[in-house]
Amino acid sequence: TQTNAGLMARRQAALPRGVGQAHPLFAESARNAEIWDVEGRRWIDFCAGIAVVNTGHCHPRLVAAAREQLEAFTHTCFQVVAYESYVELCERLNAAAPGSTPKKSFLVNTGAEAVENAVKIARAATGRTGVIAFGGGFHGRTMFGLALTGKVAPYKVKFGPFPGGIFHVPFPNALHGVSEDDSMAAIERLFAYSIEAADVGAIIIEPVQGEGGYLPAPFGFLRRLRTLCDKHGILLVADEVQSGIARCGKLFATEHYDVEPDIITLAKGLGGGLPVAAIVGKAEIMDAAEVGGLGSTYAGSPIAVAGALAVLDIVEEEKLCSRSMALGERMRTRFTAMQKKYSSIADVRGLGAMTAVEFCRNGDPQQPAGDMALALKNEAAKRGLLLLLCGAHGNVLRVMIPLTISEALLDEGLDVIEASLQAIGA
Ligand code: PMP
Repeated sequence: TQTNAGLMARRQAALPRGVGQAHPLFAESARNAEIWDVEGRRWIDFCAGIAVVNTGHCHPRLVAAAREQLEAFTHTCFQVVAYESYVELCERLNAAAPGSTPKKSFLVNTGAEAVENAVKIARAATGRTGVIAFGGGFHGRTMFGLALTGKVAPYKVKFGPFPGGIFHVPFPNALHGVSEDDSMAAIERLFAYSIEAADVGAIIIEPVQGEGGYLPAPFGFLRRLRTLCDKHGILLVADEVQSGIARCGKLFATEHYDVEPDIITLAKGLGGGLPVAAIVGKAEIMDAAEVGGLGSTYAGSPIAVAGALAVLDIVEEEKLCSRSMALGERMRTRFTAMQKKYSSIADVRGLGAMTAVEFCRNGDPQQPAGDMALALKNEAAKRGLLLLLCGAHGNVLRVMIPLTISEALLDEGLDVIEASLQAIGA
């Protein structure tokens, strides 16, 4: 019989070390918010495959939809022979996207590809090359995605040089002394020092930074960016790969911000575990690319699209947006109570279910405690709970529950976190 250790050894011999792994486990099966490993041990899953299985592992409706498609046909390549489901998914995303401007969408496979294509379209639509992105932002592991990403280690190390025309400014973060005004002023300084506003095609922002620390942008900030973009003819691109599909309590996190981005990227939760991503944008802008300029062999795979249509149905029928809000509240209430007891919890934050706990020595934001967060992750794993970290110093616990998790299982996981904090002397 298989063991996790045995498979880890084979993995180490067969794979390059650059492919990381948060937990030394191999999955055998998974349902809703639980995973069983090859040794038969059950794990509570607060990772959801990095905010992907928002509708839970193997939601019966998603499995049935994918299975039905699998038996009809698996692949024609949409750019060769099309199928209705792809069009239907785009129609539904167009109708649901924030703002009243008519939208168009198309599909790719991953978040990184969605970002690449958003930039291609922004350049085609504006005739400008410059792109402004944010420190701490994460936009994928392709060359342009890496260039946009505002964190060097481990993502960019040894991989440069990266494409040019990209400028980073600080993401507003009150805890760490960066105000909205500071971020806006940094953009104005770019226009003075580095690139003319008239050469900038896009500003790309995660409404809630994901890898950078589960950090919601302040509510007024996106509106200020929108105003700035309108003034200079720049496109506002919202990277909702991690924040989208009910994770933040709305289908698109930007719905909380009362702004209409020009282009939105989606991936992760969209396919509920099947690989599909989307670029959704204002119709006029989306038509800027020439015929044949967009697509890929597997883009909008009929199997993944069937999964995505099921995800949208499940989100609606199981009211996962309001559930995401309620579960987020429930978690933050518990974490705020823990903050009073454990001095290394410096901050509890989030939007909807996209929830973070930041660890700093003595609660001092100047002293990020990545070691404490790592100790928590390891201690919780001993107790059967899977956690993931994020943030510039790896000192942020990000909780990525499937939104279909039962309250009892959520509470069981939160109890493990509390017991682990006690055990590590947080
Ligand atoms: N953008 C954001 C905001 C992300 O969080 C991620 C993945 N963590 C990506 C892009 C890249 O997505 P993928 O890994 O599917 O390429």
